Amino acid sequence: MKKINRYIDSIFTKQDTILEEVILSIEENEMPAISVSPSSGKLLSMLISISGAKNVLEIGALGGYSGICLARGFTSEGRITSLELEEKYAKLAHTNLSKAGFGAQVSYITGEALHSLEKLLIEKQRFDFCFIDADKINYDNYLEYCIKLAELGALIVTDNVLVRGSVADDDVQPKPYTEIMKKFNEKVANHPQLESVLIPIGDGMTVSKVIK
Ligand code: SAM
Repeated sequence: MKKINRYIDSIFTKQDTILEEVILSIEENEMPAISVSPSSGKLLSMLISISGAKNVLEIGALGGYSGICLARGFTSEGRITSLELEEKYAKLAHTNLSKAGFGAQVSYITGEALHSLEKLLIEKQRFDFCFIDADKINYDNYLEYCIKLAELGALIVTDNVLVRGSVADDDVQPKPYTEIMKKFNEKVANHPQLESVLIPIGDGMTVSKVIK
């Protein structure tokens, strides 16, 4: 997977000073190097622009790499509500989105995403695009919340669904969340309210359309 990703990134993404600075800021702040891959980021931008999404929910902000990619896809106006556990990460993400020119279009809600999602549901907020990229143990819950918060026809995109290939290849050392993700993928594939496909770039992304 590593070689294929390096190949795809080298051909289909260009040098990007803004995103490189985000990666640098994450390193400088001693935060984990777990942003989406360059091609996965490009896919997010393209999915937003193709779908015309304007009201985006992001679960897992880190330093704002995926947030910038999502915002870049907006054709005219667009808003991102981003849920992040760590205050420090949300602050850095906001700084980075502001530097990229999207600071006014994003709001961060810090704390446990499950609590924030329940609040958004009570407030009757609705989204036309959801991006799930936080703690894997809660992916199942995040998916259910996203379906409830989604408008009909919305896209739900989920990252890390291949767990470095371990969900599909017994020769790859399983990770702590390999089994969780195998079950998650089966659920997504067979969910009666979703039409889904798995795209094997980065660490694998499922793209689901809410059909009911
Ligand atoms: N989407 C980001 C990007 O590509 O730029 C990367 C997100 S990183 C893989 C996962 C993020 O989820 C981390 O910033 C972590 O702090 C956050 N997170 C983990 N558990 C969480 C929880 N229970 N509630 C909210 N955020 C959580």
